[in-house]
Amino acid sequence: MNPGARLIVLGKQGAGKGTQAIRLSRHYVVPHISTGDTFRAAVRSGSEFGQKAKVYLDAGDLVPDEIVVGVVSERLTHSDTMHRGFILDGFPRTVHQAESLEKILEPRPLDLVLNLEIDTEHVLSRLASRRVCSDCGANYSVTDNPPRVKGICDVCGGEVVQRDDDTESAIRRRLELYEQETAPLIAWYSDRGLLVTMDALGTPDEVTERLVSEVDRRKASAAG
Ligand code: AMP
Repeated sequence: MNPGARLIVLGKQGAGKGTQAIRLSRHYVVPHISTGDTFRAAVRSGSEFGQKAKVYLDAGDLVPDEIVVGVVSERLTHSDTMHRGFILDGFPRTVHQAESLEKILEPRPLDLVLNLEIDTEHVLSRLASRRVCSDCGANYSVTDNPPRVKGICDVCGGEVVQRDDDTESAIRRRLELYEQETAPLIAWYSDRGLLVTMDALGTPDEVTERLVSEVDRRKASAAG
């Protein structure tokens, strides 16, 4: 594997992909790119783009591929991601997005896709306790990983709130779309020899340790 890392964290809602993607980006000192955070920031800004995105987010629907691909492809031209790599979180979510990403990244492909595996029963309880910083997007859980001061983000001091789209109907819709649109990516990346499936259960520290040791093991064997 090259210096830095070009990783995707994949997983259904509640698998902890946001939390783990942030932790991996700190560990490997590479940018964390979350399409969900990008859209939530646009919604907060009240821009025309944000108002359009809000309709999809509130319903739990996918933002159309051409919009998401445009956002990611613009971000991946910045020099930090070109030199250090990146951790993609929440993208790709469809095979079409994965195909577009493959073209954007040519000639240097991805290093690895980490697929966080969790069953639906755990997903629902994790989503009920999920909280997010309304300023920087840091993820918390009121049960497993609360902010040090209730309601205040450890990272930036912003307000920690429940996501607007963590409603029962939007959660159900996101899980449905995951099965239809995103789950096929598991076979797609597996066919390309890029996928590793990891158990998402455990404390955030335990899961991070698991992911880091897998990435490091692959880095060491790629380095020969
Ligand atoms: P997330 O924070 O990853 O759960 O994303 C929140 C919401 O943003 C999703 O429910 C979608 O409405 C939208 N979104 C984020 N990433 C994508 C993507 N790759 N493709 C389509 N919609 C997305």
